[in-house]
Amino acid sequence: MTTETLPSSAQSAALFARARAVTPGGVNSPVRAFKSVGGSPRFIREAHGAYLTDVDGNRLVDYIGSWGPMILGHDHPAVRQAISEALAGGTSFGAPGEREVRLAEAVTRITGAERVRFVNSGTEATMSALRLARGFTGRKFIVKFRGNYHGHADGLLVEAGSGLLTNAEGTLGTSAPSSAGVPGEYAQLTLVSEYNDPAALDALMAERGHEVAAVIFEPVVGNAGVLIPTPEFLAALHRVRERGALLIADEVMTGFRLSLRGATGLLGLTPDLICWGKIIGGGLPVGAYGGRADVMDFVSPQGPVYQAGTLSGNPLAMAAGLATLEVLEGTPEVYTRLESYTSELAAGLKAAAREAGVPLSVNHIGSMLTAFHQEAPDGSIRTYADAARSDTAAFAAWFQSMLGQGIYWAPSQFESIFVSAAHTDTELNATLGAARTAYRSLGG
Ligand code: PLP
Repeated sequence: MTTETLPSSAQSAALFARARAVTPGGVNSPVRAFKSVGGSPRFIREAHGAYLTDVDGNRLVDYIGSWGPMILGHDHPAVRQAISEALAGGTSFGAPGEREVRLAEAVTRITGAERVRFVNSGTEATMSALRLARGFTGRKFIVKFRGNYHGHADGLLVEAGSGLLTNAEGTLGTSAPSSAGVPGEYAQLTLVSEYNDPAALDALMAERGHEVAAVIFEPVVGNAGVLIPTPEFLAALHRVRERGALLIADEVMTGFRLSLRGATGLLGLTPDLICWGKIIGGGLPVGAYGGRADVMDFVSPQGPVYQAGTLSGNPLAMAAGLATLEVLEGTPEVYTRLESYTSELAAGLKAAAREAGVPLSVNHIGSMLTAFHQEAPDGSIRTYADAARSDTAAFAAWFQSMLGQGIYWAPSQFESIFVSAAHTDTELNATLGAARTAYRSLGG
């Protein structure tokens, strides 16, 4: 069934064997191991524009974009130049520098956040924002949504999406850890509600709202596949503040991607705090959290909530983030092009699947897209439970066929793919050509 046309993946397989001898599962982040689609992951030698080149020399059209950061494409000249210039001045100071101020000024100007603090990953951003919310409100419970992923801090590994999706067995309002090593006592402080279910959120807040420090959410979900919020759900999110809880938008994936002002700007949301990651570092390790000045001023050394980092505000990382935001701010038409490419991709995938008799339901917004292998009207998949009805075996076979034809899709049914500004009609046509073959092999 698989149409493996690439020359070889022998070098990748050999590296994977070596990696497994020295690293758990052979990878430094689980989804890279291809566990849900089978086969051996490709080891990447270099990346330019819309392409990855693996260690066997195969050139692959990249729809992962390092899981989101590479919105401009790989090795963008402005980003490379900014990193080189920073490099010439040393790699880390452990003292403040101008680039941190400039990036903070850019983030506050673009997003409307009044203060921002830089950390080193999305996980650190959400973890720190929750500590801050607890410190600010003096309350200890948080609310999250089933299938939303906010990084791997203990209290957030509860009903967390993506790679953890299949492990979660809890019931709404209860708190089952989705990882070994998370004490039940930590998880008990995390209350879980259903995404896109305003009545469930209202009911939970009516009962427990007085104890809730914050409600954290993905404004558009990428980690259960793409799920788009309904206006009614967004209204319910805003209501949580009537109970004294803070509203935290996790824009680690959507920030600067769905619009320059992220999903928050696109959907007209006004959260108290926002978390960022991925694009804000332009491909280097950066996360950030920010928002209302009165809340952010609780962070040390200004306030009593401790949070620190040896490499936070790293000059190379700040330079990459700053260059990326400058390009995005200077060429806003990028977003129109990302959206039109993604819409054409969605329509093309639908048509190819229909022709081959393969059931497919596509959710897409901006440059994020998930093609769920199931029979459902487009846009009707709104919750984790909806997404989970997908045929993961059919997805895995389709994924392998695409990879064999040089198209590197996200290796899980429950992930978004990311289109970059470097994707052109050439890549679109190549992708749709490969997709037709892949669906035909499934249908037949
Ligand atoms: N929040 C969201 C919405 C994410 O998608 C991710 C990572 O994919 C994170 C948080 C965690 O970010 P990081 O992997 O940088 O720790």
